Amino acid sequence: MRAALITGTGEVELREFDDPTPTAGQAVVDIAYCGVCGTDVHAFQSGQPYNPAICGHEWSGTVSAVAGDVSHLGEGDRVVVAVPPACGTCTPCRAGHPATCTKVFRSVTGTDRNAPAHGGFAPRIGVAADRLVRTDPRLSDEDAAQVEPATVALHAVRKSGIRLGDCAVVQGAGPIGLTTLQWVKAAGAAEVIVVEPNDARRALAIELGATVVTTPTDVREVLNERTRGLGADIVYECVGRPDTIQSAVDLARRGGSMSLIGLADANAEINPSTWLVKEITVTSALAYTHEEFEIAMGVIADGRVRLAPMHSCTTNLDGLSDALADLGSGTTEQTKVLVNPNW
Ligand SMILES: [Zn+2]
Ligand SMILES: [Zn+2]
Repeated sequence: MRAALITGTGEVELREFDDPTPTAGQAVVDIAYCGVCGTDVHAFQSGQPYNPAICGHEWSGTVSAVAGDVSHLGEGDRVVVAVPPACGTCTPCRAGHPATCTKVFRSVTGTDRNAPAHGGFAPRIGVAADRLVRTDPRLSDEDAAQVEPATVALHAVRKSGIRLGDCAVVQGAGPIGLTTLQWVKAAGAAEVIVVEPNDARRALAIELGATVVTTPTDVREVLNERTRGLGADIVYECVGRPDTIQSAVDLARRGGSMSLIGLADANAEINPSTWLVKEITVTSALAYTHEEFEIAMGVIADGRVRLAPMHSCTTNLDGLSDALADLGSGTTEQTKVLVNPNW
């Protein structure tokens, strides 16, 4: 079978792999869809070696085989890829910090010894069965492939300490910003102001429940109007550029907070005196826990968080390279691109 690997700047290689068979503790999944993530675009643009296992880490599918020692899943089960539950035996777990379990971290970063040699841009994959979460029957395979990025946003919002009635700002209306917006609403924000330069994405933010949308140029004025000059209680940074970190703090009120979700891959210039004078609280979030996939799945299935409006096109393995180039162009019309590896 062929799997697509991101091998350098602007390079996608379709490489031949043996069909996977499950080794101890593993399941083989026939992949239905794999979403293209911002990290895949970063890998494609930077040419930095990313672990092959994490290029294509947002997938849904159906179990086609399990090892003899796997009992909680079987052939025919629909699943999404997640991280395993905390292991209970690593140093952080034994110190009482299962939320920062080393086994989970290795799974997120693709650095565990048994990480697959490719990601979900492939028709089949063999992974540790404890990484799989059963798909809620109410979700389509397309929605299921978006559960992973939705869980990233859920984790960040849970960590952010948002309170019922808060005025929140979300910077960036890409897939992460648009799901963050929906979790923030579900968490009880009174108002959510979304900042986004792209017209189509602003329209999508309104469709998905933003109170008001604005551009980076006009946000200060809009925010002043809505908060009598006070600023936001909480600002979610979902753009992932160095310059949007200080701008997030600038929009928060004194005593407010900033939640860092977008990953900027260069150093950022900040103004420490604003941070100190505002007594800003900063939370940051990487990935998620196993349990949060179950939580996300339930809320998506009952319709409070909608993923289908973000799915803007589907391509195949041969179209991945063009999709990555387009998503990184800065002028893309796409929001979430899914890859169907069987097409
Ligand atoms: Zn991702
Ligand atoms: Zn652990």
